[in-house]
Amino acid sequence: MQATLKLYDRDSHLTTCQATVLSCEYDASKECFAIILDRTVFFPEGGGQFADTGYISDMSFFDMQSPDMQFSDVHTSDMQISDAGLSGVQISDVQIAGDVITHYADGPLAVGALVTCHINWDRRFDFMQQHSAEHILSGLVHRTYGYNNVGFHLGLTETTLDFDGPLTAEQLTQLEIQANEAVYRNIAFDISFPDPEALAALDYRSKKELAGEVRIVTLPGYDVCACCAPHVYCSGEIGTIKIISAMSHRGGMRLTVLCGKRALTDYQAKQISVEQISALLSAKQPEVAAAVAKAKEDQQALIYRINDLQKKVLEAELKSLPAPDTTEDVFLFQKDLDTKAIRDAVNDLCTRYTGYCGIFVGASETGYSFVLGSSSKDCREAAAALRKAFGAKGGGSAKMIQGSVTADEDAIQSALLQR
Ligand SMILES: [Zn+2]
Repeated sequence: MQATLKLYDRDSHLTTCQATVLSCEYDASKECFAIILDRTVFFPEGGGQFADTGYISDMSFFDMQSPDMQFSDVHTSDMQISDAGLSGVQISDVQIAGDVITHYADGPLAVGALVTCHINWDRRFDFMQQHSAEHILSGLVHRTYGYNNVGFHLGLTETTLDFDGPLTAEQLTQLEIQANEAVYRNIAFDISFPDPEALAALDYRSKKELAGEVRIVTLPGYDVCACCAPHVYCSGEIGTIKIISAMSHRGGMRLTVLCGKRALTDYQAKQISVEQISALLSAKQPEVAAAVAKAKEDQQALIYRINDLQKKVLEAELKSLPAPDTTEDVFLFQKDLDTKAIRDAVNDLCTRYTGYCGIFVGASETGYSFVLGSSSKDCREAAAALRKAFGAKGGGSAKMIQGSVTADEDAIQSALLQR
């Protein structure tokens, strides 16, 4: 099979092209048609970037786009075409083997037919923005700190970059500022295919022993790298480069990055979030973090106060219990109590009463959670009685059990006393 002419290689903004179908075969393993053309604008998966999607129609009234056509001319007309939903075969995946590119389609095309390829430009442009930003960040990190990009994953929602050295918060802030300065400067990406001699003399990232033509992507002042993927024409098209998280990873750093529309969408969502927090806490937007910290402090103070009051209520309730010389077993039912206070109180009761000492917290309709202890009786028997009578849950040791039960106060007490 003849090599497929890679139109995307020379012009990343070409969204349509005419081509001739060289082969079309049903691929049973993928349950779709494998189509090979003489040329294509579809980028096959590679260099950390997903394959293009789109469609191929056999309506050949679209003129071949010239490679030097301007950005605005090319993609606007294409968007109108795809929005119109013209018939064609949908392309869900594109792969390259050697020099031959295969398009995976949901229908067949006639061999020899003249067809028109249309890529999903929004998707491609988004990938190009993320991918081009990766060159800027990796180039800057390499030049400034000497670290290599040892992992790159361009996902559908976010991109991660792994570097083989640590970066401080201050260094990351500087990196982000410098990367965005490269965007403001709107520098053109240069694509070249140096001859072997020139290549050997060139210092670039991703230098490997590659057979055949090596495609060098250069952003002057920032990065030189071997790369097969399509990039934006100029750095300004990236829009914004935002590092949204940085974590230590295998002795280096993993950065999560959003660029272009992804960064804007993220900012919009965060804006709504900050506006809501600001309104809820009656705080100015730049001061929401301090307001949340203050709200947490206030809440903690309230918890301490509630615990203190609960303790006092419990002390009063415990005083009203029958005296230890008049009863073996004591049960206390409360609406609300802190777990630690319950356990402390049960332990205390067990030193004074010989039978079961239980505290139940909740209400008969919604159920009680309980802690029950005893210095002389086997609490597991009490657990069994509650389980048998009310399907209670929980368990523990002979000395103490805890669990939950839904029944009314009197029924619980009689089940425990009439075992
Ligand atoms: Zn690249």
